[in-house]
Amino acid sequence: KLENATAKAELGRASWKLFHTMMARFPENPSADDSLALKTYIQLFARLYPCGDCATHFQKLLKKYPPQTINRTAASGWACFVHNEVNKRLKKPQFDCRNLGDTYDCGCGDEAKKKAE
Ligand code: FAD
Repeated sequence: KLENATAKAELGRASWKLFHTMMARFPENPSADDSLALKTYIQLFARLYPCGDCATHFQKLLKKYPPQTINRTAASGWACFVHNEVNKRLKKPQFDCRNLGDTYDCGCGDEAKKKAE
């Protein structure tokens, strides 16, 4: 089948959205098991990502820059960094990682409630 750049880009945007939102919601004080779960998730995401050459490139990137999953700040900063590495390769603009907080809101509306409990 012919490559369909529109579908590929759409899959990329949807995937990045989930990826960064997941990092933004990762605990600030995770258990060792939470950190291992995120690390495993990232490795499996890279292995199973449906665009084959994207997956190959991303796996190489993970070897060079291993996933940082000690807490939310480390995970979201790492994810922003590797996405910027992909942006570089695809000649896309760099994203300012200081804007992560405003960009990725899951819309769940339960964070404040949880804190108040
Ligand atoms: P995207 O890169 O999809 O970004 C979507 C939005 O996220 C941006 O509009 C911006 O608001 C925000 N954003 C941008 N950079 C960052 C950042 N660093 N941190 C946080 N938020 C940010 N496409 C290919 O053609 N070849 C590939 O090899 C390839 N590899 C990929 C590997 C992975 C793991 C993924 C998830 C996608 C890959 N893609 C690849 C798709 C590609 O990265 C883009 O998703 C796609 O080209 C659409 O680009 P876009 O300009 O809409 O912005």
